[in-house]
Amino acid sequence: MYDPNNIFAKILRNEIPSRKIFENKYALSFWDIRPVSTKHALVIPKGEYVELYDFVSNATGMEQRGFWEVFRETAKMLGLTENFNTLTNSMKPPFFVQSVPHFHLHVIGGERLVSPAEW
Ligand code: AMP
Repeated sequence: MYDPNNIFAKILRNEIPSRKIFENKYALSFWDIRPVSTKHALVIPKGEYVELYDFVSNATGMEQRGFWEVFRETAKMLGLTENFNTLTNSMKPPFFVQSVPHFHLHVIGGERLVSPAEW
């Protein structure tokens, strides 16, 4: 079910670079490569979870706590403890599509870079 060749798995294995924001033993945050706003981060667990429901169903309590710690520290570092959006996709077209099959939380704030129609 989980595809270990997805791009975020490669980032976790340091096979491709990312612009890291924060990490702990259980999760990592980094800047989105195609930001929709001036502050657009992604938070991912280090474990192999395809999407949100998989993560909350199968990740251990420590993994889930570690994930939210990375979210919290990332939000703090980016000045996004308020006035921000979070989003996680697990949909197929025509709705917002999950393009990378490793669970990730978008954290979006600052100034919008694309029109509302695009995102
Ligand atoms: P989603 O469509 O919800 O699966 O979002 C995937 C996100 O991953 C998109 O916003 C992409 O811009 C972002 N993305 C894809 N490849 C990379 C990468 N190598 N580094 C950082 N962000 C990426």
